Amino acid sequence: MIKPSGTGETDRSCMRNCAGHMTVGLFGGTFDPIHYGHLRAAEEVREGLGLSRVIFIPAALPPHKTRGAVASSAHRMAMVRLAAEPNPDFHVSEAEIRRTGKSYSIETIQYFQLTFRPETSLYFIMGMDAFLEIATWKSVDRLFSLCHFVVMTRPGYVLRTLEEIVPLEIARQFCYDSASKCWNHESGYSIIPFEITHLDISATRIRDNIEKGRSVRFLVPEKVSDYIEKHGFYRPGA
Ligand code: ATP
Repeated sequence: MIKPSGTGETDRSCMRNCAGHMTVGLFGGTFDPIHYGHLRAAEEVREGLGLSRVIFIPAALPPHKTRGAVASSAHRMAMVRLAAEPNPDFHVSEAEIRRTGKSYSIETIQYFQLTFRPETSLYFIMGMDAFLEIATWKSVDRLFSLCHFVVMTRPGYVLRTLEEIVPLEIARQFCYDSASKCWNHESGYSIIPFEITHLDISATRIRDNIEKGRSVRFLVPEKVSDYIEKHGFYRPGA
């Protein structure tokens, strides 16, 4: 059961200025560490869809990663805050980190439905790699009735079929709109494929660079690389 009470300082700041219609992007991830691939993608989605804000939500225990995170949730959160700080449209939430156990997106979406006014439209943002695994997510049959899903794609990629990604009974609840190239769900929400500039950056590559003593300059914000260096993350034997 998700309760709106016990909301931390971060989420209270998310709720300020919510008068009128708001469009909010929810961007979850391990962010181990956050990098410019995440930041640029979030900025392009925010601008392209005219979102009022994007909320970064570091996961406590990501259910789909075979290994746990390297940096603790508190340190990953600190790095996300440093990275998001310069952009007033970027917010950070502790919603998943405060919950114990695995970070299931359905619980996160339900939490934000309770946090914001009902007229707020939520857009759950994810990469194509994550979307291709969505059939394995908790309560996938209910997810698409809760909010819009923005699937970030590489240039030129067209999401023509859902049958290979989600169970047939769920795929049948959608209808493809060739004008907008969106999949519209019977609930009124949509899956919105969104083409972003593909920056070939991953947290794996950053951790690997650091382990091998290579630079991560221009892959992560300077404050994040300073933080990584200060705490000695991702070095061999760290
Ligand atoms: P790792 O390399 O450890 O698997 P990652 O760099 O993919 O990590 P995550 O925290 O797992 O980062 O990603 C969170 C979300 O950001 C996912 O939906 C993922 O698809 C997306 N994402 C990751 N890297 C990029 C990138 N370069 N451009 C756009 N989206 C990205």
